[in-house]
Amino acid sequence: QVRLRFAPSPTGYLHVGGARTALFNWLLARKQQGKFILRIEDTDVARSTQESVDAILEGMTWLGLDWDEGPFYQSDNFPLYKEYVEKLIAAGKAYKCYCSAEELEAKREKALKEGRKPKYDGTCRNLPQGPDDGRPYVVRFKAPQEGTTFWNDLIKGKISFENAELDDLIIQRTDGTPTYNFVVVIDDATMGITTVIRGDDHVNNTPRQILLYEALEVPVPQFAHVPMILGADKARLSKRHGATSVMAYRDMGFLPEAMVNYLVRLGWSYGDEEIFSLEDLIQKFSIENVGRSAGVFNPDKLLWLNAHYIKNGDPVRLAGLLVPFLKERGVADTAGGPELLAVVKTLQERAKTMLELADGALFYYQQELTYDEKGVAKFFNAETPALLRALLEKLRGAGELTTAGIEGAFKELCEEKGIKLGQIGPAVRLALSGSTASPGIYEMIEVLGQEETGRRLERAIA
Ligand code: GLU
Repeated sequence: QVRLRFAPSPTGYLHVGGARTALFNWLLARKQQGKFILRIEDTDVARSTQESVDAILEGMTWLGLDWDEGPFYQSDNFPLYKEYVEKLIAAGKAYKCYCSAEELEAKREKALKEGRKPKYDGTCRNLPQGPDDGRPYVVRFKAPQEGTTFWNDLIKGKISFENAELDDLIIQRTDGTPTYNFVVVIDDATMGITTVIRGDDHVNNTPRQILLYEALEVPVPQFAHVPMILGADKARLSKRHGATSVMAYRDMGFLPEAMVNYLVRLGWSYGDEEIFSLEDLIQKFSIENVGRSAGVFNPDKLLWLNAHYIKNGDPVRLAGLLVPFLKERGVADTAGGPELLAVVKTLQERAKTMLELADGALFYYQQELTYDEKGVAKFFNAETPALLRALLEKLRGAGELTTAGIEGAFKELCEEKGIKLGQIGPAVRLALSGSTASPGIYEMIEVLGQEETGRRLERAIA
């Protein structure tokens, strides 16, 4: 059974890159009916916050990425890490290093001056490991100095490093806290992680981690390093390129299914197909089809996908999601106006975001519309009041307003007055919505209903 994990550091919000990493792990776990584990990497106590943990959990929940185990917190595991440090020392695979920061810095500078790559010189490597004598020390891993360390990356293929290039890694600091590469290995090993999917900014850590697995005599997981996400200028995606927080996209009116669909395609492909639900993805996703080159974040494509999901979305669900957006726009309660579900149906065809949907829905709930001035100048003339009045009478005569009844009323009016629909339509649109762009006129009348349509026409006539 495969066991995968997402291991965010809680030092900020859930970034789109992190969300994509989480998604890939989640998909593989679901596809192979394994487990998806959430681990919060909060050993950097100074930079980790509960707010950030909450934001990450909220983002994952919003995307629909549920976890089977966790969240586990590394800060709960300090005793375990300590135990493993002691084990490695006892096995002669790690040692206490008493070299001071100043000494190390001096050696580093000397190496750089002489054109050598700075590397720990092994001063303390072979000291006998007696009990503490009170001097401060770090614990270093006794890394092999010869040979190569390699792995077959599921995305990047074979990657190898010369062990001579790798330092004797510090696994425990002077203050007794363990270091990042060490805790990741202990956790992945003790949690039985079989496959590590993570950003390729970790490629340089991997050989060090593999050597630790070997020293601990535990199985080495498979690795899949996902290429970075870039902005349009090919620089690493950052705030300069726009929002990078997943939840900011929700607030901008994106649907989670659009976000998931967008993120998965940012690096993974399946022929020419573009539209994937989570269920499809569980069937179709494979790590082998994740590309080796970096994905470029394309906001237009995300918008296109969002429009697709709004257009094809369940109007009941969209109506529910719309409520907070309407509240933000001053519509606290839709009960006094037309049914929200019917409103959504008139708008979802064209709205690209939930914000557009909310903006588009506002006029249905506003008592006093402000008419678009240019529209009035263009479409209201001396005959308009009489035409609107005649229309109103026809509509009243049509009884309950069905699509057919409304259409019939317009048709009769046009015939009687010898006009074309184009000579009255835009004025009706303005009277009902205040704007020159709105849902279809018949649809609007149907949704507003006899009484409200009448009220709006009367107001425009007056
Ligand atoms: N905590 C690391 C990060 O946020 C992830 C480590 C890993 O996946 O191995 O980048």
